[in-house]
Amino acid sequence: MQIYLANTRGMCAGVNRAINVVELALQKYGSDTYVLHEVVHNKHVVNNLRDKGAHFVESLDEIPQGKVVIFSAHGVGKCIVAKAKERGLKIIDATCPLVTRIHKKINKASDLGQEVIVIGHHGHQEVIGTIGQYTYDKSLVHVVENVDDVNKLEVKTDNLVFATQTTLSIDETKKTVDALRSRFVNIKGPQKDDTCFATQLRQNAIKDLAKYCELILVAGSKNSSNSKRLSEVAISCGCKSYLIDDYTDIQDSYLEGISKVGISAGASAPEYIVEDIITYLKSKGANENVICIGEVPKNLSFALPDDI
Ligand code: SF4
Repeated sequence: MQIYLANTRGMCAGVNRAINVVELALQKYGSDTYVLHEVVHNKHVVNNLRDKGAHFVESLDEIPQGKVVIFSAHGVGKCIVAKAKERGLKIIDATCPLVTRIHKKINKASDLGQEVIVIGHHGHQEVIGTIGQYTYDKSLVHVVENVDDVNKLEVKTDNLVFATQTTLSIDETKKTVDALRSRFVNIKGPQKDDTCFATQLRQNAIKDLAKYCELILVAGSKNSSNSKRLSEVAISCGCKSYLIDDYTDIQDSYLEGISKVGISAGASAPEYIVEDIITYLKSKGANENVICIGEVPKNLSFALPDDI
């Protein structure tokens, strides 16, 4: 069995920044550090930070007054910020700057009274935070997932603007954006979509990897949107693919009859998970040499928030 490894994989600048924020807060505030929702959608990252003393909560009501609250990389709506202030919590915002950029667009649309359509997954933390930026008239905000939703959508005005979640499938989102533009010809929005560069580069890298492989294993948690999309892209390229938290999820049946296996990792998956997967596959008889596919990406980083 030959292992192929995508050079563009794993943690992105926004995820690294969010993890750094929690680690710095732990150094400064110790066990007073609370994180609203998973700071990034990866079980290993969250467990590691929990072991270091961070408290992960699903509601601000679980945080005692005067403690520190960190907002996750996916961002939160305005009412959450207001409630945290009301409760006297010290706020540290780890929202990815690329998500904040979309928040600003929705804020502006709200100020202008424009009707907003967000392409994204219902109930995903980022989408909840994005639509939570709109305060003008909540009935003027819609979430659509696909072309079907666009066709069924009932709007109230012709003053429309759209935005997208950052971690969607590039190819599927194009279809949804095309459907929006053809149904609502005057709709305003980004030239293509708001998917981030990390999402785009990792999906492109999977397409390259798929040219060499029969199976692609993607390291990432089941609730990680960008990781799930990577596995779906691999399948759409004709490969078998599984999303795995770590090597212990690999079942013998996954490897039956496979001689070329690819590995990638979602934007929230730590590199040691990839290394463990490679070690495991070698223990199952894979060649010692691993073939790396694609260009080595530039190492990007985002500045830390001012409030840490
Ligand atoms: S996947 Fe994109 S939007 Fe999400 S944290 Fe990474 S860079 Fe930011």
